[in-house]
Amino acid sequence: MSSSPPLIVVIEDEAPIRRFLRASLSVEGFDVLESTTAKEGLRAITQQHPALVLLDLGLPDADGLDIIRQVREWSALPIIVISARGEETSKIAALDAGADDYLTKPFGVGELLARARVALRHGAQRAGFEAAPARVTLGEIVIDLALRTVTKEGEEVKLTKIEFDLLAALARNVGKVVTHRQLLKEVWGPHAVQESHYVRVFMANLRKKLEADPARPQWLITEQGVGYRLKESAPG
Ligand code: CA
Repeated sequence: MSSSPPLIVVIEDEAPIRRFLRASLSVEGFDVLESTTAKEGLRAITQQHPALVLLDLGLPDADGLDIIRQVREWSALPIIVISARGEETSKIAALDAGADDYLTKPFGVGELLARARVALRHGAQRAGFEAAPARVTLGEIVIDLALRTVTKEGEEVKLTKIEFDLLAALARNVGKVVTHRQLLKEVWGPHAVQESHYVRVFMANLRKKLEADPARPQWLITEQGVGYRLKESAPG
């Protein structure tokens, strides 16, 4: 960690929400820089090098999706979308464009801060070393991406190739929502992006093998209609 507090750029045209974000984030020790338009926001990102961006989609001069696409051409900077658009299609579009996460307005301070912490941790990891961590630990479950093994309470769990690839795709993005489309593309290939039932079937298998109660998954979390998220273990 550097000594100066992490800078968060907020791109949001609604003043009450900007005030809410500034108040919530300042208390936690973040520096906050507010932008009210896409143009201002992009300038802030390129000139100030923030650690995280909170981005509204409905901006007066552009759609927030355009900002995500532009930034993703040159930066892996964490971006969390904050939007009143709650429909699944909007979430999917934002995540597919390269957003790290999505919060639907209204949202609580607790959720905002938790998601911000996860995004900042990923940003720091990406900045520190290019490759994803070789090992992801979820409570008693250890996923070794380099050795392609999974253990639960020290015992090896036998997974098929597809099951492992699916788990690995989530593990490389631990804490983040991965859309059905991204999973299909990564595990089955670009021709399979419409076949979301593949993911459902294999996710059910993974839950049976890894979760204590597959009907109430603790780690392999469904983001309804959007995709899946591998829940991160509490740090420490
Ligand atoms: Ca707006």
